[in-house]
Amino acid sequence: MLKCKDAVERADALVDGTPLSWRERFALRMHLLMCHHCRRYVHQLRALVTSLRRPPPEAVSQEKVDAVLDELDKTP
Ligand SMILES: [Zn+2]
Repeated sequence: MLKCKDAVERADALVDGTPLSWRERFALRMHLLMCHHCRRYVHQLRALVTSLRRPPPEAVSQEKVDAVLDELDKTP
């Protein structure tokens, strides 16, 4: 069975876009089925990569801020 260190290296390679052979992917999947720690690591790694790929939130213009403040001022 793959060691945790090797599983982490392969998971990192997959996230980086490095192609793995089917044997490497199979060994990684088998390891993840058995190892809760590496499964958690891969889950967190995927969440991190997904959050980093999201575009940054759009900045709110000063006009929008003023419009909202104006609406709030009109509210009794
Ligand atoms: Zn492991």
